[in-house]
Amino acid sequence: METRSASGEHKYILILSGALVLFVLYLASLYNFLLFHSLAEIFSIVVAFSIFIVAWNSRRFVDNSYLLFIGIAYLFIGGLDTIHTLAYTGMGVFPGYDTNLPAQFWVVARYVESFSLLFAPLFLGRKLRVNVVILGHVVVLLVSLVSIFYWNIFPDCFVEGVGLTPFKKISEYIICLILAASILLLLRKRGEFDTEVLQLLIASITTTIGSELIFTSYVHAYGFPNLMGHFFKIISFYLIYRALIRTGLVRPYDLLFRNLRQSEESLAQQAQELARSNAELQQFAYVASHDLQEPLRMVSSYLQLLARRYRGKLDDDADDFIAYAVDGAERMRSLINDLLAYSRVSTHGRDFELVDCEVVFENAFANLQVAIEESGAVVTHDPLPTVMADDVQLVQLFQNLIGNAIKFRGKEAIRIHTSAERGENEWIFSVRDNGIGIDAEYAERIFEIFQRLHSGQEYPGTGIGLAICRKIVERHGGSIWVHSESGNGSTFQFTIPMMELD
Ligand code: ADP
Repeated sequence: METRSASGEHKYILILSGALVLFVLYLASLYNFLLFHSLAEIFSIVVAFSIFIVAWNSRRFVDNSYLLFIGIAYLFIGGLDTIHTLAYTGMGVFPGYDTNLPAQFWVVARYVESFSLLFAPLFLGRKLRVNVVILGHVVVLLVSLVSIFYWNIFPDCFVEGVGLTPFKKISEYIICLILAASILLLLRKRGEFDTEVLQLLIASITTTIGSELIFTSYVHAYGFPNLMGHFFKIISFYLIYRALIRTGLVRPYDLLFRNLRQSEESLAQQAQELARSNAELQQFAYVASHDLQEPLRMVSSYLQLLARRYRGKLDDDADDFIAYAVDGAERMRSLINDLLAYSRVSTHGRDFELVDCEVVFENAFANLQVAIEESGAVVTHDPLPTVMADDVQLVQLFQNLIGNAIKFRGKEAIRIHTSAERGENEWIFSVRDNGIGIDAEYAERIFEIFQRLHSGQEYPGTGIGLAICRKIVERHGGSIWVHSESGNGSTFQFTIPMMELD
């Protein structure tokens, strides 16, 4: 409520000071109409050039062809208005010309303005060919300059002592129609504009229509209609200044058009949708692998029963077939178990607590006791830090990495060493082995689910172990990678963020 009343107050002050400025300008017109006219025109020229400067300099990071098109157009409109101002009756810049000259430039400027406002919405969301737009304006400017100053073929707009010519009046009406059409087009495209900007643009164009209608009726360059027409022009340029410059500079992020905000919103929506479908997928993988366990247990226990009871009693083929089936069921069991473990990382994770990695190491070591003894591996470690983590998952992580180091051993006696060093904001853990190593080209792939570099006969496995490791590390806010060369051992490294106290 407070902000609303504050902005209401702000509007009130704005209107009051606007009225005051117009009143002072009115007083100036009483003192010297030329002074009034020059001030009014200078104001709109400054606004026009400012629109160009803002649009031109922001073109690289504001993906908005509407603003750029309008910006270029206003550069030329400002130029034409400058000539109009210099040519105005009494300025004396172009000796030998009367009120017809400024009126001609006025008409050209307003045609360019109205057509630009009409065409600009068509460029929304399209790529603008800047060179073509600039060239088009240069041609219009040159043709009007030459036809007014040299060829003398530009239709007369004002005849001294008589007033406006039909060409000028009809032109003003046509310009009003073009402006009205531009409002309709804006309304049709309203979905792509910020509401406030749209309102300001429409208000500005409406005021321009008002000023054009007034300009159909003057008989003298210094008369009352001219005063009112210029008041309207000042208001219209102020409104377009509010719409394009102030909004563009003061609120650059929800700038003029909603495309930035819209894409942000749709991005957030997509992220939400992605998170939802991800959760659904994880839940699905979990439920599927969990529920598959039971029927699989049935299949494999009856197969084992068959194998035991009928081995040697049927023919040789039957023994082979049963053995294949038992083998297949066993492989499926480990796949399902691993899948379950993979989906459990995110669905069954525990809260993080202080975890001493030396204890984690000891637990992983104990779980791997049999494999370590059988392989004769020498498994060592440096002092390891305490981190905030899910201890069960950390054990699983260490166990997978050390387990792999044992599994993918080379010909030499196995040596596996775990260490940790301080990074900038994280601990960098390393598990180094002297095993078969990994070709650099596979260094990324091995962390993907079901990706294996070796056949099941050579080294048994499902290809899920490292995918689980990556999921665990990522859940802790870290990342995992490997340094290795084929035949030269591997070093798996992963990070765990440091606690604030570290
Ligand atoms: P699995 O061990 O079931 O094959 P992982 O996801 O744990 O699946 O590993 C994926 C692949 O990465 C392995 O098949 C292996 O080719 C390679 N790999 C993993 N750890 C090592 C290691 N310590 N040394 C060499 N290769 C490894």
